[in-house]
Formats: sequence, C-alpha cells, structure tokens
Amino acid sequence: MARAKLTVNLEAIADNWRSLRRLSRDGTDTAAVVKADAYGLGAAEVAATLLRSGARIYFVALAEEGAQLRHALGGEVEIFVLSGYQRCDGGLVSSCNLIPVTNSAEQFFNHRLDFPDGPAALQLDTGMNRLGMEAEEFRIVREAPAGAAPILVMSHLACADEPSHRQNRSQLEEFLSMTDGMAVRRSLAATGGMFLGQDFHFELCRPGIGLYGGLPHRGARPVVHLDIPVIQVRDVQPGETVGYGADWSANVPTRVATLSAGYADGIFRLLGNRLTFHADGIPCRAIGRISMDLITVDVSRLPKDPESLQLLGQHQTIDDLADCASTIGYEILTSLGNRYERVYGIG
Ligand SMILES: *Cc1c(COP(=O)(O)O)cnc(C)c1O
Repeated sequence: MARAKLTVNLEAIADNWRSLRRLSRDGTDTAAVVKADAYGLGAAEVAATLLRSGARIYFVALAEEGAQLRHALGGEVEIFVLSGYQRCDGGLVSSCNLIPVTNSAEQFFNHRLDFPDGPAALQLDTGMNRLGMEAEEFRIVREAPAGAAPILVMSHLACADEPSHRQNRSQLEEFLSMTDGMAVRRSLAATGGMFLGQDFHFELCRPGIGLYGGLPHRGARPVVHLDIPVIQVRDVQPGETVGYGADWSANVPTRVATLSAGYADGIFRLLGNRLTFHADGIPCRAIGRISMDLITVDVSRLPKDPESLQLLGQHQTIDDLADCASTIGYEILTSLGNRYERVYGIG
C-alpha cells in the first residue's frame, strides 16, 4: 500500500469540545466551527460526532458548506454562515435553513426583505477591520423601523492568541459599548478568546482550532496521526547526492528511505532538509528536496528498515510542524491533501 494514512481521532475531537465547554461561563453555549471541511478533517464526520456529544450550534464560512452540513446533521441544529448574506445564496439559505451572519446594513436589510421571518445574525467590527458593521452602520440597523431583529450579534478578536495584547481589552470594550442594552445573544470568543477569561464568553463561544488539537488550546488531545509508507530503501555512499538539484550529499554511508507523499499532499517544499519523521519514537531527518509525491529520509539510525514513518502524532503535533514551517497549526491542517487514506478512529 503506497498511500499515506491520515487517522482522525473523532473521540479526541469530542473530548476537546467537552473540555472547552467546561471552560466556558455557566449558561454560555459552546458552538463548533467546522468551516473549510472542519479545518480539512471532514465536516460531516466531525459534526456528526459533535452532535452526539451535544453540540447544537455550528459555524461554516460558505452557504454551500452550510448546505452540506445540513444534509449531514438533519434539521435540529443551528447553522451560521460567516461570509454574510449574498442574495444569490437565498435558495440555499431557505432550502437548508441557514442563518447568515450579515456583515453590513445592506446585507441585513436584503435578508429581511427576502425572508421577513427568517433568522439572521449580525457581525460587528470592533477593531479587526475585516468583516462586520462599524458603529455608525450598526446604528442605522438598530434605529430602523421594527422588523425581525438579529438572533445573534457577534464580533471577532484579532489578537486573542496573544493574551497580553491590549487590543483584546479594547475590542471587548467596543463590543460592550456597541451592544449595550440589547436583549440579544452575543458572541465574541473563538478558541483564543475563550482563554482570555469569562468576560469574553457572553452567551456563545465559537471554538474551531481548539477542537482539532491546536494551540492555544494547550490541554487539547492530539487529533491527527499521519503515517507515510516507505516505498524504497537504499544505501548512499559518501560523495553521492540525493534528490532534485543534488541538494544533499552524503558525508558518511547513509541508509535512505523514500516515502510516498510530497508537496502535493500539503508537506510544504520549504521543509526540505528541515523535516523530522519518527519511527517508534526515533527521530529521522528528511534529506534533500521534497518532491511532488516523494520525500527522502535518513533512516541510518534505525535498527531495521521501517515500513512507514510518522509525520504527525504524539511525537510531533500540528503546532510543532507549523513552527518548523513558520506557519500556524491551522494552515498545516487545511493544507493536508486529499490523496490520503482517511481513517476515522475513536480510540
Ligand atoms: C474561524 C473563526 C472562528 C474559529 O476560530 P478558531 O481560532 O479556530 O477557534 C470563530 N469565529 C470566526 C468569525 C471565525 O472566522
């Protein structure tokens, strides 16, 4: 079998959701963010597991993602769509009972015209300047003649992964002042915000990465294991080179394993000569450039040739790998390709 195996531990995701729920203030609901196919891990499988664990509120980025989720989960759950309300999404919003998070007064009023009784949420910009209404625009919505009110008012923190950043407090204050006196469910915290304290929790928290084992959820259980099969092993003599560009050359006799995965599978090419794999806990360095479908690894230290090497698992988390690639766990997960054999485990 030459196909690498990606194991997703659904029970670990459920445990991570439960531990985030325990962290939140009494009376606060804990949603699950499953946009981008649950950060690349499979939205239908992840959400079905979380539904059994008690999660009733889900967030996706796109209406199309919301439609797929509705088919997977059935009618009971609330599905919010973060990208806003475009009138061309109206068909999906109505057939799949989606709740758009409207990001401008125009979107809010268009939705109200199209669905006079349909639920909508509303996003405020409290300082990130990415999506959402600023105070002036929000005032127009609040002062408009009566009509359906939003069922959730939310905003998003720009610096929640840095607890001491002053923008956290200033966004909290802006959110409080913009929503003061409104009788509506409010939501400000994603995973990072949940760790800033209960002031940030309001009625609903929206964790994503913390479900999937990533920082800043420090106590999270790791969720993914990635094992890549070895498809050839050879001895390389001093002076010989390995891979494209003859980038690596042997100083001593070296046992080289060729693995069946590459940059087409989300193992970034810039990691060539930097990546570490593990065989039963023994680290082995990648050598030479990463190819589209192949990676070469020095396995000289192993007592016998391995059948596969592990890239992600207990010895190397998504955040360890992210550090190595100067990125974040989110990008490691969402880059995982779709050539892997995916196995959903519960152990
Ligand atoms: C992605 C996203 C989340 C989840 O963020 P995490 O950092 O993964 O917990 C929550 N809210 C919004 C608006 C998002 O875009």
